Amino acid sequence: MAITADPMWLDGAMVASEEATLPLMAHATQRGSLVFDVGSFHATPRGPALFRAREHVARFLRSAKSVGLSIEHDEETLVEAAHAVVAASGAPHGLVRWSALSAAREPDLLPRTNAARVAVAVQLFEDPPRSSPMRVMTFDDARKAPPETLDPSIKAAAAYLGPMLAKRRALAAGADEVVLLDREGHIAEAPTANVFAVVDGVLWTPPLRYVLPGITRDAVLSLARDAGIAVREEPLPREVFRHAEEAFLTSTPLPLAAIGAIDGRARPAPGPITAQLALRLSRIQAGDEQDELARWLTRVRA
Ligand code: PMP
Repeated sequence: MAITADPMWLDGAMVASEEATLPLMAHATQRGSLVFDVGSFHATPRGPALFRAREHVARFLRSAKSVGLSIEHDEETLVEAAHAVVAASGAPHGLVRWSALSAAREPDLLPRTNAARVAVAVQLFEDPPRSSPMRVMTFDDARKAPPETLDPSIKAAAAYLGPMLAKRRALAAGADEVVLLDREGHIAEAPTANVFAVVDGVLWTPPLRYVLPGITRDAVLSLARDAGIAVREEPLPREVFRHAEEAFLTSTPLPLAAIGAIDGRARPAPGPITAQLALRLSRIQAGDEQDELARWLTRVRA
């Protein structure tokens, strides 16, 4: 769980989060016309630093464009807004959430205007990071919407309803997370995280056709290639995933979470490749590495 810090940035001004409200009958509330993106900032010896913020903003702007929300702020302004809210929060580490929504006051299917309201807020973790491995479940009938129905690269609030219900089923079955299948019945992704497996020493993740292009996914693939670990971006059959030597989830808040059980079948976790990649990513995010990948961090401008 994460709580929202004050102030937040709303349409160009800093406001208290309780002032950032929306009518119950607004289009975003009634129809889910809201896109968002979540980035992170990390404590480093030189103060808080944003991780790949520009890429989060670029993905955010692509999501907005895809659903027809028109944002009047450019990429630079939205990156600067993130710096401003992080600096104002005084927090050493946490998340940054960009959202754009239709505040049109009529809940007809198509809003009268495409103009979006845009908010940028810091979210702080309430709980310490989870250290125990995740238990995940798959279900034959818990699948990602096919790409023809909904492009998986769009981070729209409305896209999470099906995955949310599937997650509830996994929790009711005693697991921590669900892994959704694609149309062919292969592994796709968790509701808010990409999936990786290690099979015969090769790092395997599903291709982008059915999954969100996760920024952590991309970081992990770069780190693996850098470390000489063979990588495969190909459809991952469910049975191969179930019997993988190692498996983990990636997402901005996690950022890399070892999987200790799949469909009730336990495995030692974290495995060696999972641990190696998690350590390298945490060192980069902590500002401890001075190599080329240090460019992923941008020190927060006060
Ligand atoms: N898949 C989905 C559907 C997600 O919502 C997220 C979270 N943004 C991810 C994967 C992981 O993406 P990232 O590493 O960019 O946080």
